[in-house]
Amino acid sequence: MSFESLGLSAPVLQAVAEKGYTKPTLIQEKAIPICLMGRDVLGCAQTGTGKTASFVLPMIDILSEGRAKARMPRSLILEPTRELAAQVAENFEIYGKYHKLNMALLIGGVSFPDQERALERGADVLIATPGRLLDHFERGGILLNDVKILVIDEADRMLDMGFIPDVERIVATLPPLRQTLFFSATMPPEIKRLADRFLSNPKEVTVAPPASASKNIVQGLAVVPEEDKREALRALIKEQDIKNAIVFCNRKKDVAILQGSLKKHGFNAGALHGDMSQPARMETLEKFKQGEIQILVASDVAARGLDIVAMSHVFNFDVPFSPEDYVHRIGRTGRAGNTGHSFTLASPDEGGLVEAIEKLIGTEIPRVEVPGIQTVAFEASDGRRRGRGRGRGGSSSSSSRSRSSSSRPPREPRPEAEARPEREARPEREARPEREARPPREPRAERPPRQPRPEREPRPEREARPPRERRPERSDRADRPRQDRRDRDDTPAPMGLGDHVPAFLARPAR
Ligand code: AMP
Repeated sequence: MSFESLGLSAPVLQAVAEKGYTKPTLIQEKAIPICLMGRDVLGCAQTGTGKTASFVLPMIDILSEGRAKARMPRSLILEPTRELAAQVAENFEIYGKYHKLNMALLIGGVSFPDQERALERGADVLIATPGRLLDHFERGGILLNDVKILVIDEADRMLDMGFIPDVERIVATLPPLRQTLFFSATMPPEIKRLADRFLSNPKEVTVAPPASASKNIVQGLAVVPEEDKREALRALIKEQDIKNAIVFCNRKKDVAILQGSLKKHGFNAGALHGDMSQPARMETLEKFKQGEIQILVASDVAARGLDIVAMSHVFNFDVPFSPEDYVHRIGRTGRAGNTGHSFTLASPDEGGLVEAIEKLIGTEIPRVEVPGIQTVAFEASDGRRRGRGRGRGGSSSSSSRSRSSSSRPPREPRPEAEARPEREARPEREARPEREARPPREPRAERPPRQPRPEREPRPEREARPPRERRPERSDRADRPRQDRRDRDDTPAPMGLGDHVPAFLARPAR
């Protein structure tokens, strides 16, 4: 099928041709004609499939008629992270270069006045992260009554990050008569329920089996002692023919430590995580895209959905807590028909997480050995090793899972590893139904005062505002453990009390 047969206008087709695309991807082929018809779309597609253009291209044509009024955007695209929002904005610039559409990008970490000016000009397309959009809304800087097209992108990520209450608030302010395009890489039941509420008679478009890993990615997993992970990573980086790579860590503090360690060992490494200022994040990302940084150590929030052309390798320094994140992480490579490689370093206590991933992707990740590093076995759930180490490894060729027991004496856990026990205790998916089940919008007075949440991305503008008389919606935000855990990835325990043990519990019993 050709782009010409999809029903797009000549200026859009020209922009697409100039970008160098010769034929539409599957999601574009399926979704663009439906969008142009004005129908709602429920799209199940991973990033890397051309999903962004599948909604941006038809939107440009739909919005080409008409003009936006000041502070009343005509369309709204919600993205879970600033980077994704900025990426979608870039797409609008590229494909919309022959149109005169006004765009406003509302993301955190960027000054309010510039964003207010963009709104004031009248935005045909508003691209936003939920938190910053609500900030503008609550300040009275924006009216959403004129939104005719709503895009909710990466819905499963929104759920993981605890943004769904915000998204619900935003959608409640939109006119019911609108076109809604809803995309998610995975369709767990919570997301399906949400889609049912937001969409009206949608056409379902699925381009890959939910949560399947791309066939273009050669995967490998090495089980190594926690304390050998850095050395194992360096050995893999040296052994592999790396053009550029992302190394994922579960926690922000590990991102910084690992980047420092890689630099110390002479690697060209940068860091990207949610605690960095937005300009610093953008600058690092740009350097990585330009090839000035070869290895980017990153947390999930900073790297989800990022479109880095022809990235050769992804390394998981930690096994991700959520199996879906594994699919997203490794999906940074093997894009647009290129072959990619992904290596996961698992410590003996991460067997349960690996099992969950393998169940999700429906296949065992081939075991590999890392040159010079002892391969060990996963611990059984009672804490004992399920198998024996194989001594110093030879090469990272595929091998079957070791089942014998380790000759090494058990080691003392390192400080970094000590922060992790909560991970096993956290049945992540099980926590979700509770959120759904809770009555929304409880009166504020009935709730205990909230703990300060230093882990959240700085949103100074909210704090700076004088308190409002009634903000019942804020009570929704008290339940965002998953955002804290993942986005602010050094606070890993939604189930336990973590560091926030109330004083009365710490007092000895009489
Ligand atoms: P996305 O899934 O939107 O993140 O897109 C993944 C990558 O595919 C991006 O680098 C796009 O520029 C690229 N892309 C999108 N559409 C096409 C197409 N029709 N042909 C080739 N590459 C494309």
